[in-house]
Amino acid sequence: MILLNPGPVTLSPRVRQALMGEDLCHREPEYAALQAIVRSELLSVYDLQDDRHAAVLLGGSGTAAVEAMIASLVPQGAGALVIENGVYGERMSRIAEAYGIPVRRLTLAWGAAIDVSQVERLLVEDASLRAVLMVHHETTTGRLNDVAAVAAVCKAQGVSLMLDAVSSFGAEAIDFDGWHLAAAAATANKCLHGVPGAAFVIARCDQLKANPGRGFYLNLSAWYQAQEAGGTPFTPPVQSLLALREALEEHQSQGGWIGRQALYRRRSQRIAVVLDRLGVSPLLGGDETSVVLRAWQLPVGMSYEFLHGALKQRGFVIYAGQGGLAASMFRISLMGDIGDNDLIRLEAALMAIFDVASRRAEVLPLVPRAPGI
Ligand SMILES: *Cc1c(COP(=O)(O)O)cnc(C)c1O
Repeated sequence: MILLNPGPVTLSPRVRQALMGEDLCHREPEYAALQAIVRSELLSVYDLQDDRHAAVLLGGSGTAAVEAMIASLVPQGAGALVIENGVYGERMSRIAEAYGIPVRRLTLAWGAAIDVSQVERLLVEDASLRAVLMVHHETTTGRLNDVAAVAAVCKAQGVSLMLDAVSSFGAEAIDFDGWHLAAAAATANKCLHGVPGAAFVIARCDQLKANPGRGFYLNLSAWYQAQEAGGTPFTPPVQSLLALREALEEHQSQGGWIGRQALYRRRSQRIAVVLDRLGVSPLLGGDETSVVLRAWQLPVGMSYEFLHGALKQRGFVIYAGQGGLAASMFRISLMGDIGDNDLIRLEAALMAIFDVASRRAEVLPLVPRAPGI
């Protein structure tokens, strides 16, 4: 079965094999060595140095890392402006509110581009907003948000910027210094091709030192201090970290984030050619979408359940639209160990399924949906 959902991903044989590594006690030097390598390799993905940035590892899924970042690094007493144009932006607001952080939401239609002049206006109007929280790749629609533009406004206003980079870390450009990011949160099992269980926040050291953090388990300050001393405050997901170490080596040997971006782009373009021939329109244009995942309009007359079921029978798992987009769209993610043969099989499967569907629908022909949202 090839997973075309946005994580967890189809594992490569070497990453799967790494799960069979030796048993480790997390209070022994063997674990400390593993943790140190993973932390430093995570910084290397974007050429960061450990005097300015730190990778803080956590047990949990991507949301745990996003929650830890928000709970720990939004300054005490400050409000946060949250930019929402999909499920994950909305989730950032709910997390901040759960910690009692005053939230100002900039709510946009799902998939809409961010208008930075609105961000600027809100920050100028309300000086209590000291942090901006946003999603880099909004997996709901595939939109790659323009972080550079928001970052320029944040820099000018002296406001810290925190990124949910869960579905972009390792495959899209993230300019930690140029964007002056306070932190970015991500996970092992998306573009890095590891297994679920390990998540992480990459933060500026000055931010980690300046903020005492909120909460208990997801308080980054505790994890950071323990990890800097070679330890860990709680039981870590040891096997996930063994797999992540292997996945990071594989990532580096395949050309790092630039190599992975190129790989996903090639996959995305191949699938776009086939779907275009079948009359399926993308939700967003090629310059607006990430390379990681693309959302497609279901033809009128074809249900998601039909397409999902027919593809699953042929060995592929696709992903539904969320919320209001569930009936009209499907998503194909390109992360994971997908071979050329798999892509050839996928192309053949799509053509066969659409052929059957259009013959079944002779009375009620399949009509391509108009592009756009
Ligand atoms: C996958 C994802 C998350 C986290 O989801 P988990 O199920 O907690 O791993 C957060 N943000 C974005 C943008 C995502 O794609």
